[in-house]
Amino acid sequence: MKEKIIPTVVIKKGRAKPLFYGHPWVFSGAVEKVKGEPADGDPVTVIDHEGRLIGSGFYNSHSQITVRIIGQGATAGAPADFIAILSGKIAGAVSARKIAGLPSAETTGFRLFFSEGDRLSGLTVDVYEKACVVILSAYYLYKRSGAIIDALKRLLDPETICVRIEKGADEGIGRDEIIEFTGPDIPSVRFMENGVVYETDLKRGQKGGFYFDQRENRLLLRRFAREKNVLDAFCYTGGFSLNAALAGAGSVAAIDTSLPALDMAKKNAALNGCGRVDFQQADAYSFLGAAKKDFYDVIVIDPPKMLHKEGDRTNALKKYISLNALAISAIRKGGILFTCSCSQKISREDFFHILREAAHQTGRSVSILSAAGAGADHPVLPCFPEGEYLKCFVCRVA
Ligand code: SAH
Repeated sequence: MKEKIIPTVVIKKGRAKPLFYGHPWVFSGAVEKVKGEPADGDPVTVIDHEGRLIGSGFYNSHSQITVRIIGQGATAGAPADFIAILSGKIAGAVSARKIAGLPSAETTGFRLFFSEGDRLSGLTVDVYEKACVVILSAYYLYKRSGAIIDALKRLLDPETICVRIEKGADEGIGRDEIIEFTGPDIPSVRFMENGVVYETDLKRGQKGGFYFDQRENRLLLRRFAREKNVLDAFCYTGGFSLNAALAGAGSVAAIDTSLPALDMAKKNAALNGCGRVDFQQADAYSFLGAAKKDFYDVIVIDPPKMLHKEGDRTNALKKYISLNALAISAIRKGGILFTCSCSQKISREDFFHILREAAHQTGRSVSILSAAGAGADHPVLPCFPEGEYLKCFVCRVA
């Protein structure tokens, strides 16, 4: 049989350096030419303008990311060996999680595979005890979803596998929809995080169900919550509020605009015997604006992503500043602000700017006690700083 020649993508002069360091995205603007005629989802070899081999990956003409490199240099292995590469990377992620103590008797829900951070761009896998949610944001993976399901079955043997397309994936593969669901069609799954029991709806929850990235920060909140009046202003399914209640908070108010999220949060509170959390449907901005001053000792603000594209930067910064200023004003002197941003385009420096402005506007003084991000199940590569999207700053407000 005649061997199929793998098409080659040539990178423009001056654009290859990050790729040699391991950045897996070849942007369309960095492509000098394509030799051969790859179809979307086909394997390609990537070389620089002088013909030096960078690695191999998968092609998509419908994405701003023309190639996702999945292996560096000559040792990359042909992407034709995709099943072996995929299995190796998943097994690697499983052992990396084990080293970080995941899963454990107290934590059965966590992120098992974090896309570029686990060196397979576009693949995210969350584990909910006996269920796996696969979130795809790349076309080549969509075309190979069967191989992904097989690998997960072989390596983890989950009861349920739900495969969905990432909300907002710009790959010509549809948006935010479930493409495969294997296993019992149960309405929700149960799992634990640091001993707190949660249920989530795999089919209807946001981001496939639960925000595992805040696990360590929820735990940190426990230290500041005892006997305190706590407000969780974007509570979703109750992650922060339940930890505050279980740590012995004096009172916990939890608000969200989403009724389905609040219903789940109430169910989770009941599962953990946290009957005293006051859940309310409200808009965080109006709630904070009308909040009694000098009442809250601790406020958590974990809003949805506010900066999606560079063009919106000025507006998004304004929004973050006004939200933080509202929260700061509602905190009594000496209280604590847990403030988060999950916008990848908001850097730590941007977050300093936001807090500086918010402090200035409110005439309060803010000291950062902890500047954390996501947990060990969201590894960040030095060659791919984009992976560090979550910021969670704990601040003392005087
Ligand atoms: N802190 C949560 C995750 C928050 S996700 C956790 O630990 O799991 C962001 C949440 O903000 C979503 O549930 C969304 O419904 C809610 N939300 C969006 N806009 C809002 C607003 N203006 N006021 C209150 N909640 C809002």
